Amino acid sequence: MARLFKVALNTDGFFQEAHVKLRPVDFGADGIFLCGLAHYPKHITETISQAYGAAGRTVNLLSRNSVTASGAVCDVTRSNCVACAACITACNYGAIELVDTPFGKEATVNPALCKGDGLCNTKCPTGAIYLKHYTNEEIWSQIDAATPELD
Ligand code: SF4
Ligand code: SF4
Repeated sequence: MARLFKVALNTDGFFQEAHVKLRPVDFGADGIFLCGLAHYPKHITETISQAYGAAGRTVNLLSRNSVTASGAVCDVTRSNCVACAACITACNYGAIELVDTPFGKEATVNPALCKGDGLCNTKCPTGAIYLKHYTNEEIWSQIDAATPELD
């Protein structure tokens, strides 16, 4: 299950919540919630309370007509993609897949799943995949602006 949904386990093999106080029934991946003994051994009253919490979080998500994604998500310069799948291996959220195009297979990013952590960028051998608002040019410009004495 953990591999299928790409969610974290703790060192004892139980599911790991995103944050013990701030997001106690959430996983790091959006739209997946936890409760009960899969979290850790607990009494039934605590399990029921946690189940209410998970159900509430789920209803909150399902009651929306649309989901707003962050603007800081990855995109692919398709002409530079060689379909090596290195970015797919790096992504912990299953946000990238190879799709068939008239020019062969190319990586594509699902912006609703992308968390903008940039891991895929570090693995891409051609620089085809990039994080919007954090391109190399933008980062270098920020460094130059912060360290004018080094120009
Ligand atoms: S930035 Fe992170 S979450 Fe988004 S596609 Fe790349 S590895 Fe996946
Ligand atoms: S790592 Fe780069 S070249 Fe390889 S599939 Fe991903 S975007 Fe394409």
